[in-house]
Amino acid sequence: MFIGGFQKFTMLDYPGKIAAVVFTMGCNFRCPYCHNPELVDSKLIDYENEIKENDVLKFLDSRKGDLDGICITGGEPTLQLGLKEFIKKIKKMGFSIKLDTNASHSSIVSELIEDNLVDYWAIDIKTTPEKYKIMTKKDDIIENIEKSISLITGSCSELELRTTVAPGYVNQKDFDEIINWINGIDQNIFSKLFRYSIQNFRPEKTLHNGFENVKPYEKKELEKMSKKLKKYCGNVVVLD
Ligand code: SF4
Repeated sequence: MFIGGFQKFTMLDYPGKIAAVVFTMGCNFRCPYCHNPELVDSKLIDYENEIKENDVLKFLDSRKGDLDGICITGGEPTLQLGLKEFIKKIKKMGFSIKLDTNASHSSIVSELIEDNLVDYWAIDIKTTPEKYKIMTKKDDIIENIEKSISLITGSCSELELRTTVAPGYVNQKDFDEIINWINGIDQNIFSKLFRYSIQNFRPEKTLHNGFENVKPYEKKELEKMSKKLKKYCGNVVVLD
């Protein structure tokens, strides 16, 4: 595991749970609006100050009974070769696991589900299938994301979908397309979701410098997107 950050306490990142957050290094995407460039850009990743897996595990062991769960985020956690073993060790201590992912590695998702290692999945839905292909320059991306989502909805874990609404990547019309796409993966998907989160893009720190000058959507635009989703999903949250 390459761990670039560790937050010892949060009440915001794992719904209903007091948690700690592990930030993994590296990502196979390059979303220009990414808020964690120091975990994604190889020129910025600080391998020298990598946090040791054992230090994280030791800390968690000392917090049994105080924390309920651990969020593993990134970067893209499913790139980590030791992810499965790391989660197994944490689960053994009695903690619940929330995993944030771009869902592009369906084979890893499948392995984690097979061993029932993740309690709560948070999948980023970045944009429409067409724009995903342009954005990631990967042909098999949609197939993998759809596979990951189907695997999770067929399991007993909770699933949250979330979209960061970055101008140029998601607009009102795109939201209609996203809803159709998701419905096409599983026509009951919206009733199975724990929630759908819409979060505004934050320009203070971005992977591509030019994106720092992009103006985020106004709250009313986010509300309009949320209204579209609410026709299908009972729990939609807007995080501005
Ligand atoms: S937003 Fe997520 S998927 Fe995109 S580059 Fe950043 S860490 Fe990777």
